[in-house]
Amino acid sequence: MAVFARHSQGIECGGILVGHNNGRDIEIVAASDAGPNAQQSATHFVRDTGYCREFLAHCYQASGADYVGEWHSHVVDLHHLSGGDLSTLIGIFVDPDYDFVSFAVVVVIVGDKGLELLVCVAETAGEEHRRRIVISELYRGKFPEPSLCGPNP
Ligand SMILES: [Zn+2]
Repeated sequence: MAVFARHSQGIECGGILVGHNNGRDIEIVAASDAGPNAQQSATHFVRDTGYCREFLAHCYQASGADYVGEWHSHVVDLHHLSGGDLSTLIGIFVDPDYDFVSFAVVVVIVGDKGLELLVCVAETAGEEHRRRIVISELYRGKFPEPSLCGPNP
């Protein structure tokens, strides 16, 4: 994700997160890129659905990993989920094709001081028929550098 976010300068990028749901806990094992037909601008991002579906199918075959979340970058100074992000998230959550109890949203904020990471999880709460969606922030801070990349200059 860090690599994709760094290399698409000035425009948002993103993709899907695949992994495993264990109750409400989510383990993310892989993240796709946006795909060749994604629509990208500084404040707007729509991933390539066909491409992401294939990515997921590949992961599912290889390891049984399933669709557990979405990630995208923010290139403007926006350190929280935008209104658009929330409506996208709620759209996925209420989609009858899916039946999520929890869903991960990861935002990579590309700023002057490097990358920041924001990890949120959406969960359903309340009784059936009176479901609410609760979005909580799990992590906010510096993007953890992969050790194989070595220290930054
Ligand atoms: Zn966003």
